[in-house]
Amino acid sequence: MSKRNEKPEGDVRMRGFARRHTVEAALALLDEQLQPLDAELVALQAADGRVLADAIASDVDVPGFDRATMDGYAVVADSTDGATSYTPLPLMVIGDSLPGRPFAGSVRAGQAVRIMTGAPLPSGCNAVLPAEFVDTTTDARCISALAAVSPGKHVGRRGEDVSRGTTILERGRTLRPQDLGVLSSIGAGLVRVFRKPRVRLVITGNELLPVGSLPSGHSIVDANGPMLAALAGRDGALVDFPALVPDEHDAILHALHADADVIIVSGGSSVGIEDLAPTLLATHGELMVHGIAMRPSSPTGFGRVEHRLVFLLPGNPVSCLCGYDFFAGRAIRALGGRTKDWPYRPIVATLARKISSPIGRLDYARVQIVDGRVEPIAIGGASVLSSTTRADGFVVVPADSEGFAPGAEVKVWIYA
Ligand code: AMP
Ligand code: MG
Repeated sequence: MSKRNEKPEGDVRMRGFARRHTVEAALALLDEQLQPLDAELVALQAADGRVLADAIASDVDVPGFDRATMDGYAVVADSTDGATSYTPLPLMVIGDSLPGRPFAGSVRAGQAVRIMTGAPLPSGCNAVLPAEFVDTTTDARCISALAAVSPGKHVGRRGEDVSRGTTILERGRTLRPQDLGVLSSIGAGLVRVFRKPRVRLVITGNELLPVGSLPSGHSIVDANGPMLAALAGRDGALVDFPALVPDEHDAILHALHADADVIIVSGGSSVGIEDLAPTLLATHGELMVHGIAMRPSSPTGFGRVEHRLVFLLPGNPVSCLCGYDFFAGRAIRALGGRTKDWPYRPIVATLARKISSPIGRLDYARVQIVDGRVEPIAIGGASVLSSTTRADGFVVVPADSEGFAPGAEVKVWIYA
């Protein structure tokens, strides 16, 4: 008997799903499996978009000294009291303070130090008189104040940007370019970030041609590979997608042992004779969930092979996208230390036409936003991937709902 025809325990082929998990139950089982991967140290220059593994508190004050926030003259504020353009007050310039090159001495009332933005405020001074309020025409050494400044004016206080001991970024923060700037300013040259999940895509289907082919005969071109690679990349994964995998026992089994944290199998996840992946997972690993009360994507499953989390997504491209959105993406984000939540922005808008959905099944309904109203595209048609391209987002109809009537306010998740 060939391996193909063996029906080991856990083989669901041609038996149908005995029972389907609710989405909530499946998510609860999945969440038990999700912990961030270990952390690694990376150079700050390479940390953009990475996820912080630790909260970061500053050991230093930034700036570490009081400094000028304007070009002008550092003074004792009191010595400008009463100065106006009609009653100028004389000040003796005794030196310069430049960024990185402070004035060494101390300043007394009636004296001034020419100072540039960012330069340290000399000792004895408590304000900066901006250059435009100074008359230097008679003598560059003996200038005239044309306005009064109050204590603290145009002075950036030590620690005003970052004060020592404060937490500046929380664990789980996805680093933005400006975060790298602030981290650099406190002296952090290396940061601890979560390791990126390594995701292996296993795109199965004997009918598939690789990306870049023209569809021909009865073959179709792989749509799921490039879509899943982009989704997983968006969610912080390092994606490995070496080649298409035929619907063959050994090829799929081999791929299930790839060097990866997450394996996403596309196609062959249901209960047909070519659907090998669920049985292989049940036999050589653990099939935790198979069959979910949702549409599209009900033949989705997941489990483990040793340390690897394995997702079985239906080949129908819309189902594949939906299965990714609900399960695989959540896992990838969580493993990488990110929020499990969708990266999609929710908006609330009025439904133009009804969306119906049977009780007991969650629906993922693609919608367009037309003139601010929500137009359902088609609730069925899992093979029509272009429905997701036309869609601006999707509405989730929970299992306990029969859908939404026209005029209802619904939450739309806008595709990122
Ligand atoms: P399967 O889940 O393998 O039974 O596939 C369901 C349907 O999706 C079939 O019509 C397949 O030809 C199609 N399909 C499977 N994989 C892909 C893919 N990677 N890209 C586009 N269509 C696919
Ligand atoms: Mg297939």
